[in-house]
Amino acid sequence: MASYDVIVIGAGPGGYVCAIRCAQLGLKTAVVEGRETLGGTCLNVGCIPSKALLHSTHLLHEAEHNFAHMGLKGKSPSVDWAQMKSYKEEVIGQNTGGIEFLFKKNKIDWIKGWASIPEAGKVKVGDDTHEAKNIVIASGSVPSSLPGVEVDNAKGIVVDSTGALDLPKIPKKMVVIGAGVIGLELGSVYARLGSDVTVVEYMDAVCPGMDKDVQRSFKRILEKQGLNFIMGAAVQEVETSKTKAKVKYQPKKGGDDEVIDADVVLVATGRKPYAEGLGLDALGVKMTERGQIATDAHWAANVKGVYAIGDVIEGPMLAHKAEDEGMAVAEVIAGKHGHVNYGVIPGVVYTTPEVATVGQTEDALKAEGRKIKTGKFMFMGNARAKAVHQAEGGFVKLIADKETDRILGASIIGPAAGDLIHEICVAMEFGASAEDLALTCHAHPTYSEAVREAALACGDGPIHS
Ligand code: FAD
Repeated sequence: MASYDVIVIGAGPGGYVCAIRCAQLGLKTAVVEGRETLGGTCLNVGCIPSKALLHSTHLLHEAEHNFAHMGLKGKSPSVDWAQMKSYKEEVIGQNTGGIEFLFKKNKIDWIKGWASIPEAGKVKVGDDTHEAKNIVIASGSVPSSLPGVEVDNAKGIVVDSTGALDLPKIPKKMVVIGAGVIGLELGSVYARLGSDVTVVEYMDAVCPGMDKDVQRSFKRILEKQGLNFIMGAAVQEVETSKTKAKVKYQPKKGGDDEVIDADVVLVATGRKPYAEGLGLDALGVKMTERGQIATDAHWAANVKGVYAIGDVIEGPMLAHKAEDEGMAVAEVIAGKHGHVNYGVIPGVVYTTPEVATVGQTEDALKAEGRKIKTGKFMFMGNARAKAVHQAEGGFVKLIADKETDRILGASIIGPAAGDLIHEICVAMEFGASAEDLALTCHAHPTYSEAVREAALACGDGPIHS
């Protein structure tokens, strides 16, 4: 039995970041992780492997569709799927190994195995019980499914995101259930690899909750890239034979059930918090109605010395949100002032073009009765975007308070949107006005000029439109 200031349960982006900050603040820290490698969902079966596949298939798309136009002639590359997957594994290995190195560097103990909390101040792993003044639960989330849809990643016909990242072969026909971030990213991967991809979505727009202009433009761009969409369709069940599946759905507008065939069905209908095996019921930890651990403003659960962060608590299920909470709760435990500004958490879809958002949408602000103004600038007026075939349909939309000009939110669909959004995040953190952005010199030719132009559009007007 060992004794620690902090034991973190789970080594995803929430848990490992929390542990590193705890160690930096002089706290004796251990992390319990049941997986074979560190990094959680994000590094092993989430953010990182999906981005590796998005990168390689984006280059394939460029070679097939844009190289010749730029004077790069010759045979397009052929796909070696096994090699592409091994490149993805290599990227995962580099990143998970990197966390192991950081643990050693910061003298953090990795206790291998699955943890439970038999009583406050104690963490049990296998036959060993460790003492901890503070316990941080960062046990993350797992994919959720629909009634009538049974996921079996080993069989490889009806899969979740984990299965989709490791399919034995590229399917001829893929049905993606759910037009959210994960469904569209992985749908894009397989469409670029030559699969005939159909996305079936219950709502009438892709990426529910996003700005309406972005939703429309994004869907149009993806359709041009070959993805098919069936919107307003409630999936009833998925039937499988030895090698195929039939997806039965009911159109929301009425009419008979319809059926669509697939070699692979990707269920991308969201994720649910994961707290199984921790013994939280017996410990008396309060949960929300949605199965999350209920926490106060300092990430404390209702049991003394127990904290929770990341996907297992309320809020957007994003790696950087989990990381921010990890750092903040470490500061709180060390007696400092941890803080997360939930109003400025960007969200990014890593398709091509990328989509990025921060703050509130136009519709949400209008529904609140806020007086706002919007500045929109199309990437067609951005020289650099045109040079990389990513100007069409893309734009930056900035929303500011009508009277004070303070920036309240933004949406970007276009090249490097996931990086551009941070200029706006920083501006929002500093309480900047649209005019502040408009008066800032932006290098030419950069994509970020489009952000400045959108800021100019909130005032006297952009230059290049
Ligand atoms: P997790 O990363 O889920 O880690 C929790 C860890 O806890 C796991 O390793 C688990 O094994 C361990 N654990 C659980 N219970 C126990 C126990 N009892 N004992 C020991 N260990 C335990 N987010 C982004 O921000 N950007 C992206 O681009 C992005 N892409 C994604 C793509 C996909 C395909 C998926 C599935 C997710 C993606 N996400 C992305 C979401 C992101 O992965 C999660 O928000 C993030 O990993 C949450 O971090 P976490 O630390 O809360 O939990």
